[in-house]
Amino acid sequence: MSRGDHSEASLQFIRTLHDSQKNHRLILNPDYLDDEKLPEEERTAVLQEIFDRNIREEQLKRIICHLTPILDGDHPSSLLVFGPTGSGKTVSLIHVLSTFQQYCQTQSVEFQYKYVDLTSPRSSFGALNELAIALNDSIRIYRKGIPVNQMQERIIQEMNRFKGFLCLLIDEADNIKPNADEFITFLGKTLPRKVPCRLVLIMVTNKLNWDKMLDPRILSVLKKTNMLFEPYDALDLIEILKLRVEKALEKSKVDEGAIRKIAALASRETGDARKAVELLSKAAKAAQETKGRLTEEIVDLAEHRLEMDKTDEMIRALARQQKLALISCYDLLSKTSKRITTGEAYDRYTSLCDLEKVRPLTQRRFSDIIGSLDLYGLINGRLISRGRYGQTREISKSLPKESLTRILSTESAEGGAFRTVP
Ligand code: ADP
Ligand code: MG
Repeated sequence: MSRGDHSEASLQFIRTLHDSQKNHRLILNPDYLDDEKLPEEERTAVLQEIFDRNIREEQLKRIICHLTPILDGDHPSSLLVFGPTGSGKTVSLIHVLSTFQQYCQTQSVEFQYKYVDLTSPRSSFGALNELAIALNDSIRIYRKGIPVNQMQERIIQEMNRFKGFLCLLIDEADNIKPNADEFITFLGKTLPRKVPCRLVLIMVTNKLNWDKMLDPRILSVLKKTNMLFEPYDALDLIEILKLRVEKALEKSKVDEGAIRKIAALASRETGDARKAVELLSKAAKAAQETKGRLTEEIVDLAEHRLEMDKTDEMIRALARQQKLALISCYDLLSKTSKRITTGEAYDRYTSLCDLEKVRPLTQRRFSDIIGSLDLYGLINGRLISRGRYGQTREISKSLPKESLTRILSTESAEGGAFRTVP
C-alpha cells in the first residue's frame, strides 16, 4: 500500500465519522437549554422568545396590574412573591420587568429595574454588597471590613443618579442569614427618605412563611402585597418543554413520548420547571452521544444519571464524621447480606477513626449521625425497639454499588478517609 492510499483511507474514515456525528446531531442551540448560565442580558433575550405561550398568564397579568399605576405617576406598594423553587418566579419577573421598562420608554416614563441576586446565602452586609453591584456593575469587589454604614452611604450615593421610578428585584430575599431585618429596614425605611427616586420593592422567596420571620414593625413599613406562584402541572411543563425543543433541538428527532415522560417525572415531584429543563438537557446530550434520537428510554437513562449526580454531590458535601460513618456502614454491609446494627457500625467506625487518626464521637452522637444519613436517603435505618434497652437501628444499603465505589475511589485518590479498612 502506498502512502497516498493510506491517507485516502484515513480521510475517508474521518469523513464517515463526521457524517455519522452530523446524523446524530440533535442539539442545535444549547443556549435555550441552559438559560440560567447565561449573562442577564442574553438571558432576557432568550426569555423574550420562550414566553409567548402564556403559561404563567395569570401571574404575569397580576404583576403587570401591580406596576401599571407607575404609568400614571402613582407609586405601587411593595410586592412579596412566594412560590416553590422552579415555579418560574425569577424568569417571569425578569421577563415582565424588562418588557415594562421598554414600554415605559415609549411612554416617556422614567422607570428602571435592577436585579439583586441573593440566590446564594448572604449576610446582611453581603446583601448590601449585591445591591451596590446591581446599581453599578463596575463595582465587583467584596469590600470586606468597611463599616456597614459606609456601605449604606455608598448605595445612597449610587441611587442619587437615578430619577423617576427605580424597581429593585430582590431575588431569594430569604437567603439573608442570620436575619434579614437590618437589610429590609434599610430598603423599606432608610432609603425612601434619603434618595430622590421612587423605590418599588419586589421581593421573591421560595419559603411560604418567610415574612412571618420578619419583625412585624418592618412589615408594616413595607405595606406589601402578596402574590403566589403555584407549582406547574404536567401540562404546563409539556408546553415549556415543547418550546425548548423547538428552539434548541432538531425537532424531528424528538419523540413525543419522551417529552411527556420528562414532564411526568418533573411534575411527580414538585412541578419544578428547572428540573424538567435540566432533564431535557441531560437527555438531549445522552441522545446525541448515542443514536441521536431522544426516546423514552434515553429519558430514563438521563433521569438515572441525574439522580446519581445529585447523590454524589450530597456525599461530597458531608462533614468528615458523617463520611466516616457512611463508609463504616457500607464497609460492613459489603461483607454481609444481612442488615447490621448501629453497635456493629460503631465498632467499625472507631477502628476507622483510629486508622485516620480522628477522635471518634460518642456512640450517642454516632447514632444521631446515622439518623441524619437515613434522612438524606444514603442508608436505610429501621428503628427497632429492644424493650427496656431502648432502641437501635437496623441498617441496610440504599445506594447503588456503582455510585458508592465511584465516590469512594475518587475520595481515596484525594487522600481522604475512604481507604478500605483492613
Ligand atoms: P424559581 O425562580 O421559581 O425557582 P425560575 O423562574 O428560576 O424558578 O425557573 C426555573 C427554570 O424553569 C428557568 O430557568 C426556566 O428554564 C424554566 N422555566 C420556568 N418557567 C418557565 C416558563 N414559563 N417558560 C419557560 N421556561 C420556564
Ligand atoms: Mg428563582
